[in-house]
Amino acid sequence: MMRIGLGFDIHRFTSRGGTLKLGGVTIPHSRGLAGHSDGDVLLHAIADALLGAIAGPDLGELFPSSDPSLRQADSRRFVEHSYALVRRAGWRVANLDAVVVSDAPRLAPHKPKIRQALGRLLELPPEAVSVKGKTTEGFSPGADGISAQAVVLLERIRRRPQSTVHSPRRASAPRIRRSGGKRSA
Ligand code: MG
Repeated sequence: MMRIGLGFDIHRFTSRGGTLKLGGVTIPHSRGLAGHSDGDVLLHAIADALLGAIAGPDLGELFPSSDPSLRQADSRRFVEHSYALVRRAGWRVANLDAVVVSDAPRLAPHKPKIRQALGRLLELPPEAVSVKGKTTEGFSPGADGISAQAVVLLERIRRRPQSTVHSPRRASAPRIRRSGGKRSA
């Protein structure tokens, strides 16, 4: 059994300064991305893909930008939370594929680090994490900001078959309850 989830996000550059984060990695650039959190557009797309795959609430519903405690928040937290919901629902990530649309900076030199960081967040081997960079030849929004799309595939976590008839713990349960009833303390 499988599920698929799609995420998208877009942030404009700050007017000047700031720290640019992509996939939880700090990328050297003259400007960061504007946002209530750290503006990590790639992690926001990934979190929404995870949440979408389990038909959960979207990222904005879970972490509203009106929440002052999320100001400058590390967006890895959003992905960790979304991934925890995925696991709790009985799924694990099979693979992640993402596109980052950015004229500058170019993604290529940072891809290995970003893939590694994403693999750590989602407990995935490198061959299950793909990030691709795209440019727009100056066509907005590639020039004024960065957008990201992400797709995740989920697969069911296999559960150990549970025997209700032959389990020794189950068989002894009624006796424990009976003797427990006579205890004074
Ligand atoms: Mg965002």
